[in-house]
Amino acid sequence: MESEIFNNSKLFIPKKSLGQNFLIDSNITTKICNIDDDITGCSVLEIGPGFGAITINLLKQKPKRLFAIEKDDRFKDNLNRIKKQYPNNFTFVIADALNFDFSPLYSNRLKIFSNLPYNISTKLLVKWLKLNISSANWGTLTLMFQKEVANRIISKSGTKSYGRLSLLSELLSDATHKFDVPQNCFRPKPKVISSIIHFKALTKPRYACNFQLLEKILFFAFNQRRKKIKNSLISMDTNINSILEESNISPESRAEEIDLANYCKLSLKINDHK
Ligand code: SAM
Repeated sequence: MESEIFNNSKLFIPKKSLGQNFLIDSNITTKICNIDDDITGCSVLEIGPGFGAITINLLKQKPKRLFAIEKDDRFKDNLNRIKKQYPNNFTFVIADALNFDFSPLYSNRLKIFSNLPYNISTKLLVKWLKLNISSANWGTLTLMFQKEVANRIISKSGTKSYGRLSLLSELLSDATHKFDVPQNCFRPKPKVISSIIHFKALTKPRYACNFQLLEKILFFAFNQRRKKIKNSLISMDTNINSILEESNISPESRAEEIDLANYCKLSLKINDHK
């Protein structure tokens, strides 16, 4: 059942399909907007401004420009009102962030903020992380996730939640968990706790690797994470046992026991054997 909320005395029915759980706690909003270093004079991108809880807070810090993208056109009037208040540095479009070409905005000084709709959060994160393989295309990301997804991002090897998302984040950024946001900070209340993760882009991957091969390795390794690595990677190379040993990885280990440095080394060894 969709619940209803009031905005400026008008009835508003949030859409579950767009992950519409709006922040109503101004202390949390301020805390989110203050995580990053000073944003005065910076370029900022916000995905999903909605009623503008984060947007207004960011604009108060006088960024050089803030570009926002919102899919739901019911926010058009609201965003136009914000634009009237901040005509020199605020622009927005009504569009789907998943299909939008952000390339004119990218630079290693771009700061991206979003209380992301849960259903698109990881897709956008993976897209942004991969952008930085050859050089950084954004500076920082300050993003909200479901706590369970946040745990997967910051997990280390040897834990259950460790996987492709943790490895990709560690390879291409410094990711830190900042704080949890309880359900009562939103309206309507979501079913789960959320967490804020801050990512600082690395200017080059943390370890040398063959990225295309690394992606394949991680796909096969974590697709069947209970299998021994020598079995899950058999389709990568018929000599996988000896390649694993050359990379100082026990062929008997499971995907979650291998750390990023070793996965990167393995991608280079498999490349050498081709
Ligand atoms: N930033 C606001 C806040 O913190 O209160 C709203 C956050 S709400 C969780 C997510 C917002 O993202 C909604 O305004 C929703 O309409 C918007 N949204 C959902 N899917 C989107 C998409 N694919 N592209 C752009 N915006 C989207």
